[in-house]
Amino acid sequence: MIPITKPFLPPQQEYSDLLNGVWKREWLTNMGPLASQLEMELKEHLQLKHLLFVTNGTVALQMAIKALDLKGEIITTPFSFVATTSSIVWEGCMPVFVDISEKSLNIDPAKIEDAITPATTAILATHVYGNPCDVDTINLIAKKHNLKVIYDGAHAFGVQVNGRSIFEFGDISTCSLHATKLYHSIEGGLTITTNPEILKKISLIRNFGISGYDSFSELGINGKNSEFHAAMGLVNLRYIEKIAEKRKQIADIYDDKLSGVRCYRPEWHPGSVNNNAYYPIIFESEELLLKVKSELDKNEIFTRRYFYPSLSSALPYLAKQSMPIADNIASRVLCLPLYYDLTFEEVDLICRLILRTQNN
Ligand SMILES: *Cc1c(COP(=O)(O)O)cnc(C)c1O
Repeated sequence: MIPITKPFLPPQQEYSDLLNGVWKREWLTNMGPLASQLEMELKEHLQLKHLLFVTNGTVALQMAIKALDLKGEIITTPFSFVATTSSIVWEGCMPVFVDISEKSLNIDPAKIEDAITPATTAILATHVYGNPCDVDTINLIAKKHNLKVIYDGAHAFGVQVNGRSIFEFGDISTCSLHATKLYHSIEGGLTITTNPEILKKISLIRNFGISGYDSFSELGINGKNSEFHAAMGLVNLRYIEKIAEKRKQIADIYDDKLSGVRCYRPEWHPGSVNNNAYYPIIFESEELLLKVKSELDKNEIFTRRYFYPSLSSALPYLAKQSMPIADNIASRVLCLPLYYDLTFEEVDLICRLILRTQNN
């Protein structure tokens, strides 16, 4: 059996060694020393000035919307994981979908201005599969219309644009450190901003809005994370280069062996390098996708139609809308297995099955 993904697990001893300290200190959660150390090490690794380690990528998004005090309409992408949209609704705002670019699969900046109304307060865009959005154009539009920008960078760990961390763009960026992601702390997330005031506000929101021994300054929530999660993040960070290298090798084999398949790959941002968080391919037709998927299923090789269906047509709490490009891409996109433990022989087998099915 080959799953779509498998969480990276470091040598157990290294994790236990860090837990010995937790047992000694008896400090389990609430911004403990390991959580602070993880924040420090991640800032250094990602070359960021500010960053907060939070509960997960979903709460990171919700706290971002809260911290910017957003109301009304938020322009967003229909081609993302459900948390991008549900966070907007959860915070009492209205998601307004703007269709994607069929090359990058990210929100199409050329279509954003048509969707702006007097009620629009922000743009919440996802760097889909880690591929950076057109951050420069989005920034220009946001400045012109006085909108805030949040980037859902759940897939974008380690990605840079022209030598600068992708997490420094927009007013706030978020990341997910969930076990299925490229780099993880079992459950976890990051909130990143270059603005010290916003950072301060989010750090208060993360801790129930408590500003002193007996005072409150914000409407807060429990957005903290534990020492156990921080420990996993710290140990996994020691392996990040190895993880990245292995993923790149696998992606290179896929690129090479699948070159004859009737499909295309997303066009990458020219100033950025693929972090290989996912391996999506967009088949020429949904028919071919279904044929390939069913053949792989039969061989116990599991793929994911990530993201199908598009959010503009899938959510029971929103009116269904047609988004021609997102709907079309969603029907043809398939993510192939990609994880640290995947062997080159397995990759080879997957490629042979795909080619054989296409040619049958
Ligand atoms: C995984 C993911 C999230 C949610 O992150 P969690 O840490 O699982 O809460 C949000 N947005 C996108 C695009 C994701 O892929």
